[in-house]
Amino acid sequence: MDPKEFCIRGKQMVDYIIDYTESLDKRRKVFPEVKPGYLRPLLPNYAPEEAESFEDVIADLERVIMPGMTHWSSPHFHAYFPSMFSYPSLLAEMMITATSSVGFSWAHSSVERAAIIGAVRVRKLPSDEKFSMRGVELEKVIAQDKANGLVPFYLCATLGTTSSCAFDNILELGPICQREGIWMHIDAAYAGSAFICPEFRPLLNGVEFADSFDFNAYKWMRVSFDCSPMWVKCRKDIINSLKMEPPYLKHIHDESGKGNKVLIHLK
Ligand SMILES: *Cc1c(COP(=O)(O)O)cnc(C)c1O
Repeated sequence: MDPKEFCIRGKQMVDYIIDYTESLDKRRKVFPEVKPGYLRPLLPNYAPEEAESFEDVIADLERVIMPGMTHWSSPHFHAYFPSMFSYPSLLAEMMITATSSVGFSWAHSSVERAAIIGAVRVRKLPSDEKFSMRGVELEKVIAQDKANGLVPFYLCATLGTTSSCAFDNILELGPICQREGIWMHIDAAYAGSAFICPEFRPLLNGVEFADSFDFNAYKWMRVSFDCSPMWVKCRKDIINSLKMEPPYLKHIHDESGKGNKVLIHLK
């Protein structure tokens, strides 16, 4: 495909996406009725030696692919959790793909970092390094673990479970975790986007105890799957625990690039 054809096909693809998106509410069958294996007879048994025409590829989308699709963005889809896109997020996806960015270090993905800092500000999460179930139940579990000779070191609290949007009481759990040196992660994947709204901020009370916090922009913010930003209080701990550090990946602006060699640091 040369640039001239890309321009033509790109417009055709955009037209297809708009037709699909705008007809979503009329596709009443949100969940596919096909059986596993339905694709086999619709596809050739061998990898083709000649390329197919773009018209045939587009036609196959409706003939072959769409019958097996679950239409997550349909207004009639109420299962699991919402996962949507928007026209701006589609444009951003095109741009991201075109840059072929493999964002494994600061030098390759400074914009990602800036976007996350923006998301943190929107949620009023503390943004400097110092940022730093019910409590009775947690106390019981900890006592049980200790009696069995175990050392609890990690707690995943949830602000909004996927199935029922239930909240753990992080105001009670947080101080216990702090006392015991337990890493408190907050999973706000499902409901975390709601904290943008000032009226939901009180649900975040106790977030100052969290060591890490995660929310999924792809669920309620109409950003394409699978944008899942995670904030970590002391970044060095997690960076160092996941790091492999060949010299060609070192960069002066990476926190990991300053010679700190702690592998896993548990509080
Ligand atoms: C969706 C969801 C997850 C899974 O998130 P991924 O980033 O898609 O792996 C985890 N926790 C909760 C509460 C969720 O709603």
